[in-house]
Amino acid sequence: MTKVEVGTLGVLLDGTATSKAMRLEIAVGVKRLQAEKGVTPHLAAVLIGNSPASETYVAMKARMCERVGMLSSLHRLGDTCSQAEAEDLVSRLNANPEVSGILVQHPLPKHLHEPAILDCVTPAKDVDGISTGSLGALINGEPAFPSCTPAGIIELMERYGIAIEGKRAVVVGRSIILGKPVAMMLLNRNATVTICHSRTPNLADYTREADILVAAVGRAELITGSMIKRGSAVLDAGYNRVEGRQGDVGDVEFETARQVAGYITPVPGGVGPMTIAMLLRNTLRAAGGE
Ligand code: NAP
Repeated sequence: MTKVEVGTLGVLLDGTATSKAMRLEIAVGVKRLQAEKGVTPHLAAVLIGNSPASETYVAMKARMCERVGMLSSLHRLGDTCSQAEAEDLVSRLNANPEVSGILVQHPLPKHLHEPAILDCVTPAKDVDGISTGSLGALINGEPAFPSCTPAGIIELMERYGIAIEGKRAVVVGRSIILGKPVAMMLLNRNATVTICHSRTPNLADYTREADILVAAVGRAELITGSMIKRGSAVLDAGYNRVEGRQGDVGDVEFETARQVAGYITPVPGGVGPMTIAMLLRNTLRAAGGE
């Protein structure tokens, strides 16, 4: 990525361009895998129910698979399907040698026990990286597919040459898909990590100390420029709809934050596009490619 002068503020961490570069690399990896082993990576998506948002996400993932030369398939169940039907579908995909990776699109309908269904995905095909086994491997420092959005945040920092080791990192949010795994990934890279959440008093006392600040909250513009350390790296995973405003708004107030932060992700175009790129890379690796 571009070389940045020391002391420059407000450098954009461009997730759109970075994910595009990654997709080009992945497309080369797919071609190489086909030539060397005769294998085409195949992502199987499980879609349960009829949530329009999930439909959109799954369609977008299928389109991206096609763009990098991968196969994708969609496996649907109705919104009244039983736990056993859902688990049986995942088990059949586990056993299918033509499927490299499995993505169970979540959230699942409320009557289903989501963790149990996610845990049915065999670790070798868990390209979404959010099963108990994959998260346990992350804690143990064992190889597993990393959870896509947290891994996308780390990849973006690494591609921009942002040092993690020895830095103070603060993660705001402790969800199992985002806050906790990104905190663990930062810890595994030798950052000193603090996790904040809705019961953290005086949030700004923590965020102002952060060399690396990850916002994973889901509250529009909760973090303002005055809460950010000068020159820090600010990674905003938030996507929030705000009435009367067009498009999505991050958890960070971008205009005030960019005047203080050294590096900052825009919303949209920051963390968001990295998620699918990581999913594609995990799928390529699940198929035996690099
Ligand atoms: P979530 O499950 O709702 O978790 C939100 C976390 O934020 C919780 O840990 C909560 O604390 C904490 N929190 C809430 N209000 C807070 C406050 N005022 N101060 C400090 N912490 C507070 O959300 P999520 O699934 O992690 O998603 C977070 C955001 O990332 C959302 O905007 C979502 O749309 C976005 N997201 C983006 C991507 C992507 O870019 N591809 C992927 C996933 C999610 P408690 O634990 O105490 O309740």
